[in-house]
Amino acid sequence: MADDYRHALKPTPAGWPRRQHWCVWVEPITDRGPTGIWQERWHRAVVAALATWQRQLPITLVDDPNQAQVLVQRRRPPIQHNRASHGRALLQLMEVRRGGPSQLEPRVEVLISPGQGPTGIQATALHELGHAFGLWGHSDQAGDAMAAQPGAKPVLELSRRDRATLQWLQGQPGLVQP
Ligand SMILES: [Zn+2]
Repeated sequence: MADDYRHALKPTPAGWPRRQHWCVWVEPITDRGPTGIWQERWHRAVVAALATWQRQLPITLVDDPNQAQVLVQRRRPPIQHNRASHGRALLQLMEVRRGGPSQLEPRVEVLISPGQGPTGIQATALHELGHAFGLWGHSDQAGDAMAAQPGAKPVLELSRRDRATLQWLQGQPGLVQP
């Protein structure tokens, strides 16, 4: 058996929500006053997590949210199933036209709460961005970025298993129009 967690991943009804290239929008810093350090801290941690994924996947940061498949917002996710959490990723499939025939694209809204320390924000962003880039499932090992249960130590790097699972996903067919 392969040392990855491909079996935990779920495709959409239209196929695997994976792409060869992603455009990501990250909520910009708007507070230029003395309290702006909190927004800057959040932004820095999210961009650090994104940089970790950029070593595995072609990812472009864009200024226009309409150009992005992944939108990262500085917001505490609403409570779900009586559980509070620091991050959430929500997947939709959109039919978009980018100067050619319309295509099916994943559009992922990622909510990352600013209410943690910088390490917590970075670890949460690393995990939620993993979902955004198509890893819609969880590993059962605490050392993986996509672990179902966070371990005692925040995971800031991708494990070999994370990378192997992503590599397998990238070899699967992407979304197809029904
Ligand atoms: Zn998760």
